[in-house]
Amino acid sequence: MGDITAKQCQIFTDSLKIWFSKNQRPLPWKGQKDPYLIWLSEIILQQTRVEQGLPYYNKFITAYPTVHDLAAAPDDEVMKMWEGLGYYSRARNLLATARFISKELKGVFPRTYKEVRALKGVGDYTAAAIVSFAYSLPHAVLDGNVYRVLSRYFGIHTPIDTTGGKKEFTELASRVLDKKIPEQHNQAIMDFGATHCKPKKPLCNSCLLKSSCHAFQQGEVNLLPIKSKKMKRKTRHFIYFCVKDPHHIYIRRREGKDIWKHLYEYPMLEVAEGTEISQNILQNSELWQQLFEGQTPVLENISPPYKQTLSHQTIIAKFVNVFISRELEAKKWGLLKIEPKKMENFAFPKIISCFLNDKTLYLRLD
Ligand code: SF4
Repeated sequence: MGDITAKQCQIFTDSLKIWFSKNQRPLPWKGQKDPYLIWLSEIILQQTRVEQGLPYYNKFITAYPTVHDLAAAPDDEVMKMWEGLGYYSRARNLLATARFISKELKGVFPRTYKEVRALKGVGDYTAAAIVSFAYSLPHAVLDGNVYRVLSRYFGIHTPIDTTGGKKEFTELASRVLDKKIPEQHNQAIMDFGATHCKPKKPLCNSCLLKSSCHAFQQGEVNLLPIKSKKMKRKTRHFIYFCVKDPHHIYIRRREGKDIWKHLYEYPMLEVAEGTEISQNILQNSELWQQLFEGQTPVLENISPPYKQTLSHQTIIAKFVNVFISRELEAKKWGLLKIEPKKMENFAFPKIISCFLNDKTLYLRLD
């Protein structure tokens, strides 16, 4: 860091400004000054590509044009609206924060970085984005795009996933920030990273910055940025019991600290890797014994495995169709008893939605 001069920083900032004047992406939240809409767009865009987040943003601002509208929405309605976007803790935090702003702050969005950073679901990056876009405060954003652009352009080899790396890149992002127009600068560096200095196949040959870019000059474009650890993903195996009586299906809301909190699912059995899914194993499981006590359930079929990859876990699920002639004591086992046509009112993890869509196809073909 000590080696990077003020002049180098200035050249970078000026070049970026020129690039942005010719290449910025027109998006509905750009130039927006309403902090509620900015906050909404930033939460939706966390870990999400712009193309994927855009329809959700439009859906949300239509349904909830103000923070009070969002605060008044039922939990299940918001979860359903979020369905398919993933990282569902964002939707829960979104609601908690909307209710806090609506009730405690009387609908007035906080104005300082510290206050915005203290909101549930708002980290360093999101707080910097909100206060720079809404209030033109000089806070530099630092997300995956910014790490990549800075590490390549300035040739920084410090791993980005270390405390030292975070500190170094935070300082540099602040040094290159154009403090007169922080909102434009932040948008520019993120757009540049997302569309030009991309993770794979960056557009170096047509790049305005190539003559002063370290990575391009030194042939290190594919090496930077550096990460120290390879993320390990654990694999979990779920067996879902799709229990049907002549009129109902049984589902439950996920609670606790595990994945998919507040989404819905079938009663589920988690088994160790390598467990052979036989009729015997299923019928001797505690879940089966509890649910079907005093009944004679018919195990109709078992689906092939479905797979969903999350950031830290891979889920493999099989779906077991079970028919019972009498209703279950749903409440006793924390289940909801619903008519099949009401299934569309509930938000499910993607792996269950895939199974449901496949099943519709299967029923039609049958
Ligand atoms: S020359 Fe390539 S690596 Fe360097 S800033 Fe431009 S796109 Fe990124």
